[in-house]
Amino acid sequence: MTGTTDVVVIGGGQAGLAAGYFLRRTGLNFVVLDAAAAPGGAWRHAWDSLRLFSPAEHSPLPGWWMPRQDGEPYPTADHVVDYLARYERRYDLPVHRPVRVRAVREAGNGLAVESDRGTWHARGVVSATGTWDAPCTPNVPGRGEFAGTQWHTVDYRTPEPFRGRRVVVVGGGNSAAQILAEVSTVAADTLWCTARPPRFMPDDVDGRVLFDVATRRRAAREAGTGSGPGVGDLGDIGDIVIVPPVRAARDRGVLRAHPMFDRLTRDGVVFDDGGEYACDAVVWCTGFRPVLDHLTGLNLSWRDGLPVTDGTRSVDEPRLHLLGYGDRTGFASATLIGAGRTAKPAVADLAERLRADGTR
Ligand SMILES: Cc1cc2nc3c(=O)[nH]c(=O)nc-3n(C[C@H](O)[C@H](O)[C@H](O)COP(=O)(O)OP(=O)(O)OC[C@H]3O[C@@H](n4cnc5c(N)ncnc54)[C@H](O)[C@@H]3O)c2cc1C
Repeated sequence: MTGTTDVVVIGGGQAGLAAGYFLRRTGLNFVVLDAAAAPGGAWRHAWDSLRLFSPAEHSPLPGWWMPRQDGEPYPTADHVVDYLARYERRYDLPVHRPVRVRAVREAGNGLAVESDRGTWHARGVVSATGTWDAPCTPNVPGRGEFAGTQWHTVDYRTPEPFRGRRVVVVGGGNSAAQILAEVSTVAADTLWCTARPPRFMPDDVDGRVLFDVATRRRAAREAGTGSGPGVGDLGDIGDIVIVPPVRAARDRGVLRAHPMFDRLTRDGVVFDDGGEYACDAVVWCTGFRPVLDHLTGLNLSWRDGLPVTDGTRSVDEPRLHLLGYGDRTGFASATLIGAGRTAKPAVADLAERLRADGTR
């Protein structure tokens, strides 16, 4: 499978599809190469009980808003997968899967996108590979000694494996709070360890606030009155959304965070004051890094695990844009509402560049 095209989008999750939606409107030729076997991006791997933290009408991709889910004010991950699958059919997006991109290299006037199914030659590349395939765990001493089981967020589907067990959940974000809330309903005991005290949002704040901040920010930018309220406004509110299971866990007194332990032993964790907690399992809800190994063959400068960008455009390789990956490529760009708002100017910039280069 090889070809020549104007733009290759790497990754067929929500960010890649949003790019595809705008590319379709430019009239450029493009393909979306996705390593996954089926549509849905990271949402295919979410744990069974995961719900969006905002209602469907606050989680749109461009062009077609997510339909409501019967009986579920906050849609399930399966509903999002179904939405993304229907979205790519609706806009007839040329998604090829499973195709894993191994490397992007300079090739003559363009870029060669090398994959396990062949090489595409393109004038521009959009990288939208997300973070799910690169889970992070801190390098805590004793991890190899621990005789119990160690999981990461990516391994978690249901609380059943933890029934009757003593479980340590590590991490101060939404995943940790939600997994802790669920595991605590079946475990013999749980301990929650966080590097800094967790910051809960007020009970009446959910993803709608994200939507509102993103909307005001875009309006301010378009009106030329600055960037408007940004992620800092949300940071002041807190990190953890009080979704219903988290609220229930708080009411049961489960959400008491303990400072991070110093090391693991064969039987559990040890704190800096010498205190110990014996446990059967540790669940690391300690985040992800951007999946970007395919870009290491380009001559790019990197900062904090990402190529340095001006907005979404690489400062060293202007034919390359990055979508998703968190706030560094655009406010809330790794959320459903943010994906389209970041993709639109990225595709406009790329199309403009290709026109200037004489491709179109
Ligand atoms: C627990 C959790 C809860 C969340 N809740 C919400 C929420 O309520 N609302 C919200 O808006 N957002 C939420 N998010 C955030 C966000 O919507 C998701 O992380 C989203 O999946 C990011 O989309 P993406 O397209 O950037 O990446 P992904 O969905 O990860 O898609 C990337 C795609 O690229 C593919 N890929 C990777 N490497 C390659 C390669 N080398 N070659 C080809 N393809 C490749 C992958 O297989 C995948 O299909 C949540 C995230 C998590 C983890």
